[in-house]
Amino acid sequence: MNPTASLKDRASSMAVAKAREAGAEVIACSSTGNAASSLAGNAAAAGLKTYIFVPSRAPKGKVAQLMTFGATVISVQGSYEETFELSKQAIDRWGWYNRNAAINPYLSEGKKTVGLEIMEQLNWQVPDYIAISVGDGCTIAGLWKGLKDLYAIGFIDRLPQLISAQASGCCPLNRAIETGEDWRPMKENTLADSIAVGVPRNADKALMAIRESNGLTVNVSDEEIMAAQKLLGRTCGVFGEPAGVTGTAGLKKLCEEGKISPNATVVSVVTGNGLKDVANAIAHCGEPISIPSDMGLLLKAFADNHIAVE
Ligand SMILES: *Cc1c(COP(=O)(O)O)cnc(C)c1O
Repeated sequence: MNPTASLKDRASSMAVAKAREAGAEVIACSSTGNAASSLAGNAAAAGLKTYIFVPSRAPKGKVAQLMTFGATVISVQGSYEETFELSKQAIDRWGWYNRNAAINPYLSEGKKTVGLEIMEQLNWQVPDYIAISVGDGCTIAGLWKGLKDLYAIGFIDRLPQLISAQASGCCPLNRAIETGEDWRPMKENTLADSIAVGVPRNADKALMAIRESNGLTVNVSDEEIMAAQKLLGRTCGVFGEPAGVTGTAGLKKLCEEGKISPNATVVSVVTGNGLKDVANAIAHCGEPISIPSDMGLLLKAFADNHIAVE
């Protein structure tokens, strides 16, 4: 159910269960925002203390979640890479249970449930493609593991092709696939904060998943991401955060480029809730009609805005 409103909950609930099992009382991580709020919420429910490191650019909604869940929050004035480094040193120094991306092997066991759930809901009928946004690469790798598990035990009879969607301003993994070269760090230049990951922590597993699935890569601009946010809202009633709708933005672009057949079946995973980052949504969604309670003014406003009332 993703109780803190992002897909990170699948990994965090696993991390918290394993921390309890190991007898840990303190659990820590660094995160662009969602792994942080997710860990803090799941840990609070289990009675564990948390130390959380986020880059200072993290959206206010995510930080408000962290503070509400009672985490000790360290807002690092630097990039996600620098945030990760400080958390690593602190975790080593104090011996906290570590929920950092790609360090804790149990996390992908949690993340893979997205693959299990998609297939169960589709009654084990495998779609041609599954589109998902990629930052550190844990989500796409976990998704792939879940699908491969189902394939191995015969619950599904083939595997889909993955679509790896990244922001054009920060796409080190897709660039590695596209150029056939090793991945190299990139600037974190996108408003989709959850996938603004210049140094991906799970590059090997993610690249393997994309390659093994004969996957597609697609990079989208911030404008395309924000347009996808509106499109999903208008057509599905789904409000995703920028990184949450990046898979959909990529899918739209691939369709327009003719790279996906109109007959293909595609699942696009929305990985985070739009309420986590209202600032970007407000900047792109337009203004409501604002008037006093007066029918005359309502009629005028409809006329002024060319709204033909039925
Ligand atoms: C973390 C996150 C992603 C990307 O997951 P990675 O494991 O970092 O690749 C995508 N969307 C949202 C909303 C996220 O929080």
